[in-house]
Amino acid sequence: MKTLQELTRPNIWALKPYSSARDEYKGATASVFLDANESPYNSPHNRYPDPLQLDLKKKIAVVKVVEPEQIFLGNGSDEAIDLLFRAFCEPREDNVVAIDPTYGMYQVCADVNDVEYRKVLLDENFQFTAESLLKATDKHTKLIFLCSPNNPTGNDLSGDEILKVLDAFDGLVIVDEAYNDFSDLSSYTAKLKDYPNLVVLQTFSKAWASAAIRLGMAFASEDIIHILNKIKYPYNINLLTQQHAMEMLHRHHEIDRWVQTLIEERTRFEKELLELPCVEHIYPSDANFFLARVTDAVKIYNYLVTEGIIVRNRHTVSLCCNCLRITVGMRSENNNLISALRKYADKEAQA
Ligand SMILES: *Cc1c(COP(=O)(O)O)cnc(C)c1O
Repeated sequence: MKTLQELTRPNIWALKPYSSARDEYKGATASVFLDANESPYNSPHNRYPDPLQLDLKKKIAVVKVVEPEQIFLGNGSDEAIDLLFRAFCEPREDNVVAIDPTYGMYQVCADVNDVEYRKVLLDENFQFTAESLLKATDKHTKLIFLCSPNNPTGNDLSGDEILKVLDAFDGLVIVDEAYNDFSDLSSYTAKLKDYPNLVVLQTFSKAWASAAIRLGMAFASEDIIHILNKIKYPYNINLLTQQHAMEMLHRHHEIDRWVQTLIEERTRFEKELLELPCVEHIYPSDANFFLARVTDAVKIYNYLVTEGIIVRNRHTVSLCCNCLRITVGMRSENNNLISALRKYADKEAQA
């Protein structure tokens, strides 16, 4: 790996971050706060939240088996993705490499930051080789994005190939584990000690059932986390979000049960759909959604909208011709989709 200083944009490396009132006060417990121009009324929402979310990070650290200093919290994982570009990629000079198809935000953040985005097509099993990814890199490649389980394909990426990339690439490797709770494979957070160039992304938006609070996590070396903390907005995680996340962490046994239920329901849901003539294939999934190849994705998508059912049409995405991405919902919701498609198939048979 290059040194972190070599990887970081010089202006970011030299940056002296904004120092908030709550940053400067650290030490003896105080009871009178006249330092931040807050209102004394409307407690507790009158106070600025902890800029580094230490209480919350301590709780997350226990559940995720990492050190609090290895955690960055963002306004969704999307904030962490954007900050990685801003910290490490010099616009119009550096580039990043990613598998294709994958999560759309990597390309959007690259475009916003004016950074070249290089795509490497997956094979017909939606897998990649380290060799093909590394071949797409050059001396200006700062980041490689790997999403496992991948979105929209749903499958885990090959662990051997991910390790090969981590071993051979001299920039940062981002492993986006938004759906890891649903996978049999263990998290790459266990590898942080071995790989100083590894950044793992997770989120409260999927298995943790809290997309509304906007809370994403990045796990990496203390030095990388320090750089992200330097450039984030001072109070990027609001108090309500920190409180709700704490509550969800206390309920983590319940979340494990939700995950188990959704995985079982996924199997049933897939089996029922495969009985229908308009469903041609369902790709193997390690997530809370799956990709289904149907006879006519655009027609079926539009038909489902008229039935009040929304799925994700992925027809125009690489390798996903005539594919719909379907999230596993409540059994009753899934049954609604199955019934609607049965009705569609009956009508098609008559036509
Ligand atoms: C849903 C998703 C996320 C989560 O983004 P948030 O901003 O945390 O809601 C991240 N990565 C992938 C691949 C996703 O599908």
